[in-house]
Amino acid sequence: VALVMAQNLSREYGNVAALKRASLRIFPGDSIALLGLSGSGKSTLLHLLGGLDQPTGGELSWPALGDSADLRPSKVAFVFQAQSLMPPLTALENVALPLLLLGAAPDDARQRAADALETLDLLSVAQQLPEELSGGQAQRVAVARALVTNPQLILADEPTGQLDSQTAQHLMDVLLAALGPDTALVMATHDETVARRLKTVWRMKDGILEELP
Ligand code: ADP
Ligand code: ADP
Repeated sequence: VALVMAQNLSREYGNVAALKRASLRIFPGDSIALLGLSGSGKSTLLHLLGGLDQPTGGELSWPALGDSADLRPSKVAFVFQAQSLMPPLTALENVALPLLLLGAAPDDARQRAADALETLDLLSVAQQLPEELSGGQAQRVAVARALVTNPQLILADEPTGQLDSQTAQHLMDVLLAALGPDTALVMATHDETVARRLKTVWRMKDGILEELP
């Protein structure tokens, strides 16, 4: 059963066609790079896939997740570009926050957050604030925060966009190692080297989605 199905999905902003009739299916265990230049529609597609935005045309459903919108927060997680962490909270508290919002007990949330930090090579910075972290560390904390709820679908928008290439590869190493076998990942990137780390590459150009051979 597909996690996400889209048929002729479109999104227009005024007279800008940001996404043009995209049809796709995403299954458990898929890892997909959305590769394209800035402005090609990658973020627009990710936001639609996560239910953060509404299409202006076409059909979109989440067959394996239950189609009730309020079921999705525990099953879909986003990783945004840098500076998405809450400044007054430590790394550990940032990662525990989604669990607390889903109703976990505080002790359980702290333990699971610590486990997620360890998986991403971050236990040594658990008590630090976002402003005290390096760029690579902060971005790995954002990944830990997405993984901590064990989502079935992770949507990542240029998570390596502000990192040097070595730090970007390290983030890809720990992210791919931390993914469960049934978790699907869709990652927007403009970096061919990052895209090649994923099983499937979908190229986006001027709002049109095409799969590479
Ligand atoms: P990418 O993520 O590949 O950089 P986007 O999805 O952000 O591309 O943008 C696709 C197109 O849609 C661009 O032309 C962009 O300017 C336009 N766009 C995106 N968001 C908005 C918005 N909220 N209002 C108006 N135009 C937008
Ligand atoms: P920064 O963002 O300042 O580069 P990081 O903690 O992300 O800080 O990493 C510093 C450098 O060390 C990066 O180039 C990263 O690729 C590398 N690095 C850090 N931890 C590891 C690791 N466990 N395995 C391989 N490389 C690592």
